[in-house]
Amino acid sequence: MSTTDFKVPVCIGSFIDGQPHLGTGTRLPILNPATDHTVSEFSEAQADEVGLAVTGSRRAFEQGPWPRMSVDERQAVLRSIHQVLLQNAPELAYLECLNTGIVMREIEQRHLRRAALNFSFFADYIGQSSDAVYRQTQGYTTTVMREPVGVAALIAPWNAPLALSSMQIASSIAFGNTCVVKPSEQSPLAVARMIELLCEAGLPPGVVNLVNGRGPVTGQALVTHPEINRVSFTGGTETGRHIMASAAQNLVPCTLELGGKSANIIFASADLDRALDGALLGIFSNNGQQCLAGSRILVERCILDDFMARFVARARALRLGDPMADCTELGPLASRAQMNRVLQFAQQAPAEGCTLLAGGQPAGGFGSGYYVQPTAVLAPDNRCSVARQEIFGPFATLLSFDTEDEALAIANDSEFGLVSYVWSDHLPTVTLMTEGLRTGVVWVNTPMMRELRAPFGGFKNSGVGRQSGTACETFFTEEKAITVPTRAHPLRRLGV
Ligand code: NAD
Repeated sequence: MSTTDFKVPVCIGSFIDGQPHLGTGTRLPILNPATDHTVSEFSEAQADEVGLAVTGSRRAFEQGPWPRMSVDERQAVLRSIHQVLLQNAPELAYLECLNTGIVMREIEQRHLRRAALNFSFFADYIGQSSDAVYRQTQGYTTTVMREPVGVAALIAPWNAPLALSSMQIASSIAFGNTCVVKPSEQSPLAVARMIELLCEAGLPPGVVNLVNGRGPVTGQALVTHPEINRVSFTGGTETGRHIMASAAQNLVPCTLELGGKSANIIFASADLDRALDGALLGIFSNNGQQCLAGSRILVERCILDDFMARFVARARALRLGDPMADCTELGPLASRAQMNRVLQFAQQAPAEGCTLLAGGQPAGGFGSGYYVQPTAVLAPDNRCSVARQEIFGPFATLLSFDTEDEALAIANDSEFGLVSYVWSDHLPTVTLMTEGLRTGVVWVNTPMMRELRAPFGGFKNSGVGRQSGTACETFFTEEKAITVPTRAHPLRRLGV
């Protein structure tokens, strides 16, 4: 099937109770980052339209079949969604690539597989989870059951719209909840189609509703709506702080998956060919726009010159181009604002003592597309802005260290604590680092590898809460303790 077979909608609205709903809100453009052309537009949901979506979700929760289905029935729908997403992968990948500039190959091989897997993973999980029974107190049995919490607000970022919003959707609905999804205003195209497909796969209307719009307008109305019971947010740290404060007004628990400035630590004792491949993948995959990017590359001083030369040569050789093309390794950034932000870091770095090793300029030959040259700087120490702030682009900051303790100190000297990477074949070094690193995930001798059974999330300003089967079950369910006496105990009689 050729990409021209896929229809791009003229305008995206909300999706409420299983039906498209085109409101009267402001129309905003949906852009192709590779060309800067408008490919579609969306209608921004105002508070009243957000209210309709939340009411639809509430109705589906209170009266609809979904929370009342047996686990077997819910599993069947989640597995059907897995199939339908894979069957429609070419269309979803096309829309995602068109709207985000993420390289098609990465969308097909990573994002879409993950999106489909999220649903089958939670289908498997709910088939195995069980209630707890306490019988330690003689004469009584206490059962602890978990029930769905109600309606979840799911707020997603633009850097991996399908992969990340599908995780939020699957992990909330698997436990019998309903939800309202708000994708990023920059990247609503593929998510809107995915949500239609959920219904085509057999999900009852109203279980997953969609609203589109900017954060302060649509997002804020959603997070503060009184009928919302949980907020799951993936995005920037400052936005997360604001969302948590807003949700706190209604005492609504939040889970926050936030930013990072992750250390990728390379020891002389590593397999340096693999470490080099891993470092390049860590910072340049997904166009450099990923929360778990290994954006601070810490290299043991005795191998710095050699490693740096090889890293820079490979970074310069990266194939920039049309994200739809098979041979492209690095596409455009997601927006003009993001491109300008990345370029500004490159411009300011020398004033802080950094040496520009590669890139730092807009990449020529791509018309008005938001392309930036693969960029690398050597920073004199960890205090520079490029070592502290999340840049979120194809921008590597290299630093050097002499000892394991120094590597640990630099790695942990960050407001963030999402992930870290360690490259060494020396077991005591690996043990010392994995025990000392203050991050939610540590990858040893591998680039990012997501094990859905294990918790994912950050220490410090990288987040609140975790994503995994058990963590999501805890977050998206309420516990209820039911105590029953096993025989008729004599009761103290009042008023006799
Ligand atoms: P962002 O914080 O700007 O926006 C994220 C979402 O929040 C968008 O949908 C936006 O419209 C919405 N939003 C903004 N203000 C809001 C408000 N007041 N109320 C409600 N919603 C609001 O983030 P972004 O720029 O889209 O994404 C990039 C960031 O996301 C990076 O910092 C990245 O590290 C982080 N991220 C984290 C993870 C993770 O798992 N930890 C994964 C991907 C991205």
